[in-house]
Amino acid sequence: MGSFSGGCLCGEVRYEGSEAQGGGHCYCEDCRRSSGTSHCSHMIVSESRFSVQGEVRFFDAVADSGNTISRGFCPSCGSPIYSRNSGMPGMVIVRASSLDDPDVFAPGLIVYASRAPAWGQPRDDLPVFAEMPPASDIPNVEA
Ligand SMILES: [Zn+2]
Ligand SMILES: [Zn+2]
Repeated sequence: MGSFSGGCLCGEVRYEGSEAQGGGHCYCEDCRRSSGTSHCSHMIVSESRFSVQGEVRFFDAVADSGNTISRGFCPSCGSPIYSRNSGMPGMVIVRASSLDDPDVFAPGLIVYASRAPAWGQPRDDLPVFAEMPPASDIPNVEA
């Protein structure tokens, strides 16, 4: 994939990046609560290929894996922007909802599908995992 850009609702946070390395949809409870709907859509990018302007505030939560997920959002308008995962050093996890062109995101899998609410079920044309699969089971995704 080529380059992409995005930002928050109020425009105080803007970012640019390139060469996303796939990603997917997560239906865990923390993603649901922070998303405004049933799941988050996460696009994985090397932090060396990602730059952000404007203040991003982070909220840290420990995931089932034991990793700390730091969810970044605009302190003015609350829009989720990107996250960091202590188990994925050197990577940022861009919220696809914040992309200027959301269709540059090509999700490759769905995790924690068993936690999806009845009103926000996962699509069934991607590999679906009831929980978080071991890394060896995650399909290699071209983005
Ligand atoms: Zn904002
Ligand atoms: Zn999640």
